[in-house]
Amino acid sequence: MEKIDILSLTKDELAAEIEKMGEKSYRAKQIYDWLHVKKATDFSQMSNLSAQFRDKLSEKFCIKSLKIKKRLVSKVDNTVKYLYGLPDGEAVESVLMEYHHGNSLCISSQVGCKMGCRFCASTIAGWVRNLEPSEMLLQIYETERDSGRHVDSIVMMGIGEPLDNFDNVVKFLTILNSGGEGMSLRHLSLSTCGVVDKIYKLAELKLGVTLSISLHAATNEKRSAIMPINNRFNLQTLMKACDDYFKITGRRISFEYSLIEGVNDTDESADELIALLGGKNCHVNLIPINEIKERDFKKSRFVERFQKRLTDAGLNATVRRTLGADISAACGQLRRDDAEN
Ligand code: SAH
Repeated sequence: MEKIDILSLTKDELAAEIEKMGEKSYRAKQIYDWLHVKKATDFSQMSNLSAQFRDKLSEKFCIKSLKIKKRLVSKVDNTVKYLYGLPDGEAVESVLMEYHHGNSLCISSQVGCKMGCRFCASTIAGWVRNLEPSEMLLQIYETERDSGRHVDSIVMMGIGEPLDNFDNVVKFLTILNSGGEGMSLRHLSLSTCGVVDKIYKLAELKLGVTLSISLHAATNEKRSAIMPINNRFNLQTLMKACDDYFKITGRRISFEYSLIEGVNDTDESADELIALLGGKNCHVNLIPINEIKERDFKKSRFVERFQKRLTDAGLNATVRRTLGADISAACGQLRRDDAEN
């Protein structure tokens, strides 16, 4: 019988499993603490449990781990990029970045991606599988172990579309919120290309998560040309969902806009963005596109000009600082290069 992935169990699920084994409920609390506070990697470390009970646990459950396949450390700042090997041999990326307010970790939510955004390396070879809650948590735990640094905030902007792995992502958030990190989910940003039905489901859970929308274009014609999701949920539907998310949760939305030469970086595109977002309580993050070798999209030369046009019109817009420029590889590129070797 396949062992249960114990790191993927919420507090309540673990309590139910331990109860089934005929043990007292405080035992479940102790185990949860070992897993998510002390970050034990083996049942033998759980010294306040009897040897007999630890044996029983290791027969029924497994504690998964990730393997560091690659670690790229920036020489210009403290950015570290990891390629993590998963138990089944697949791999995903995580990036540790240092800001004045602390360390932020960018994590992946799927192996590959179905969304098909034209400029994104993660989607080129398609979708392989969803990550388990444990595999999202372990990106944090392994990074803290390896780097000796505490992760203060998390961005779900690595490989995959988090809202396309909804149930596992919600479990991951639940464990993160009630585990040792005790992390308020205000310190977690979830980035989506715009899976509208799931934005509503997330809003209703009222987890306090900050939502980031990958917008990249402000008309349906331009957006559909680079992001297939726009054919399923158009801009009007998406903007309505954003307004509703704000109304339900009180959390301000962030919009990501990657500037691509000749595609979405003209004054006309800026004016379209102003027309779409003007008057909303939101923030626009401008990102010079990361060029990937499989596509011929080029970095825009008009980033500052575009930003000025937005801020002159009263929009709150900043250009994302480039971190780890010397190890910069577009999201998903490290995994692709590894697969080709
Ligand atoms: N699927 C989610 C999260 C992963 S992508 C989403 O779409 O939001 C994280 C962010 O990086 C998104 O804003 C995505 O559009 C952007 N992105 C993807 N490829 C990029 C590239 N080559 N250059 C710049 N940004 C890119």
